[in-house]
Amino acid sequence: MIRQDAKRIASNRRAELDHRKKQFATAKFQEHTYPHRLNFYILPPTADITLEQFEQWAIDRLRVLAELEACSFRNKTPAETAAHMKPLMDKYLPLSSSSSSSPNLALERKKDHYSHFILRLAFASTEDLRRRFARVETALFRLRFQSDDARERGAFVAGLNLEWEAVGDAEKKEILPELVAAGQGRKASEMVDEGWFKVDWMKVPELVESRRVLLKGGYAYVPGREQMSMVLAEFTARLDKALEQTSRALPRLDEDDRLSPILAHLSSTFLTPASTAPSSMVAGTITAASIPSLLPNFPLCMSTLGTTLATTHHLKHYARLQYTLFLKGLGLSLADSLQYWRSGFSAVTDDTFNKEYRYNIRHAYGDVGGDGNRRGGGYSPFSCQKILTEHPPGPGEAHGCPYRHYSLENLTATLQRTGVTDGSVLKGVKDDREKMKYHMACNRVFEHVHARELKRAKEEGTNIGGGETIVHPNEYFRRSFLLKVGAVKKEGGAEMEVDG
Ligand code: SF4
Repeated sequence: MIRQDAKRIASNRRAELDHRKKQFATAKFQEHTYPHRLNFYILPPTADITLEQFEQWAIDRLRVLAELEACSFRNKTPAETAAHMKPLMDKYLPLSSSSSSSPNLALERKKDHYSHFILRLAFASTEDLRRRFARVETALFRLRFQSDDARERGAFVAGLNLEWEAVGDAEKKEILPELVAAGQGRKASEMVDEGWFKVDWMKVPELVESRRVLLKGGYAYVPGREQMSMVLAEFTARLDKALEQTSRALPRLDEDDRLSPILAHLSSTFLTPASTAPSSMVAGTITAASIPSLLPNFPLCMSTLGTTLATTHHLKHYARLQYTLFLKGLGLSLADSLQYWRSGFSAVTDDTFNKEYRYNIRHAYGDVGGDGNRRGGGYSPFSCQKILTEHPPGPGEAHGCPYRHYSLENLTATLQRTGVTDGSVLKGVKDDREKMKYHMACNRVFEHVHARELKRAKEEGTNIGGGETIVHPNEYFRRSFLLKVGAVKKEGGAEMEVDG
């Protein structure tokens, strides 16, 4: 009997300790429910999603964050930012309120939750990325907090169990003179009526810095109307801490060869946003003869190539590739492209041109080359991301992005030659460049040189030339063209007129 019991206990213990079984057992996690629209992202996701969802959800969130960051670089006011971001958020990261009875509520909240955690993985690796990620996530949270239904927001905040202490009437009376003194001209009666919280002063640095609270005994006495600042400070503090923890866990993730490339791509996209080329203009609109008159509508990376070709009658390999694909993206036909390049390379004979340059242009258009190239119609025009990060120009090469690859003196002189002489714009470009926000410098110049047309388009409510931050040279041209050159009724529809 005793021996049998001992056997049973031993086998029970083996079952408990058998790590192989534990290792391969299916983990049981509780499915998340999302009672609130807002989320502090405390618990990581646990359900399975496909790799496609993993990547697409992260990219969608990234688009929203990158644009939000662009709004702050362009000094948009909170109201302008909210108006600018609304259509983007509705498109890429919608988040309905609980009272909306949207059938997609659970999926929207799941996407929001998962995409946040995926980007945490992508942006936890360096301090700079962590800081930027925390800043834009806080900005996104702020936008949503402000637009949330007041009742739902109250329920969300109550559920956070934050360490705030409501200040009782007796204490409020006792410190009233001090509250009034710190109240920036508000009356004592208003102070009494308002709900007050006290909180460790280190938790609300923003309020302390701007002197919007009373500091006493290690506490900050915060009026109820500043609740948002307290919630935001808490959100940022928790996210900073979580990102630190994630960064320590990252080396283990390197072993996963499905996720690592996706995460690496996502973080590089955050540094220089990716974009696909916009569809080309109406075929036949742009011809070899019209290109010189269109140079002012090109972004600086392309107008300098056009000018260099016209003055030196030569461009090296990468410059030719960058420029050919850009022109192809405008809708320039192969025949016109060959004609344009031939007249540009006026210092060489027909024979040399045909032998050394003609083939590469045809190849870029997919007219020659392997089957894959021909079927795919050749290469796509380069995005800013590609131009900014791949094949930096060496001595004597003219390709690349002037905002990144030129010296500041050369960049300033080039901009001045193209008519950008406004001191504040040049100073803004210099600042953007120092912060490595090259495409922001380019957008700044776009907004400056099209200021009149953008104003008119806004007044007419057409939004031509507006929209997301430009991250593709062909998109720069498309908007400039629509604003300045085209006698266009509707985008993509009617005839456009070009000189030449
Ligand atoms: Fe060209 Fe992009 Fe640089 Fe602008 S930011 S100059 S479009 S590469």
